Amino acid sequence: MDIKTPNFQTSAICGLFCSSCMIYLATQKNDMIKLQYFAEKLNTSVDQVRCNGCRSDVLTTYCKNCYMKKCSSEKKVSFCSECDEYPCNYLIEFQKQMPHRVELFDSLSRIKEVGWEQWFRENEERVTCTQCHQICSWYETICSKCGNTPSSPFVADHIDILNIKKVRN
Ligand code: SF4
Ligand code: SF4
Ligand SMILES: [Zn+2]
Repeated sequence: MDIKTPNFQTSAICGLFCSSCMIYLATQKNDMIKLQYFAEKLNTSVDQVRCNGCRSDVLTTYCKNCYMKKCSSEKKVSFCSECDEYPCNYLIEFQKQMPHRVELFDSLSRIKEVGWEQWFRENEERVTCTQCHQICSWYETICSKCGNTPSSPFVADHIDILNIKKVRN
């Protein structure tokens, strides 16, 4: 299995795993069809939609204005789970808004328990296709490379809620 070195840039402050974000994956592949799709969805341009992860300099418009990013910087914490106010109401509401955030609090607890690098490795396995080992996006219920379904352990655990609010993968 192609498990890469843990990447802090894609380890989001809020506990999301940016390496399996649809926008991140489309950016890495320079997939113009998907970038155009997300640009239209977020009412912005393709250049403004590209993203290399939460802690990178290339951020999609939506995540550029992230409340957690600003707040964590003021509180001088690297992850929300290090904050005295964790879990704050903002984070609780944020988690409820989208199906792919279903493991947000589990992630933050795990980061606190074992550190972000170990959490990163575990998460990478959770979103990797069990058949061809491609990293799949949260909403890629069927692996786009080999057709395996459910594509990954993450998808297998949450396929019902992911299908309810299907976002292009
Ligand atoms: S768009 Fe947001 S969630 Fe997706 S990779 Fe960028 S910072 Fe992470
Ligand atoms: S107040 Fe909330 S959003 Fe801000 S760092 Fe703490 S947990 Fe994160
Ligand atoms: Zn596959």
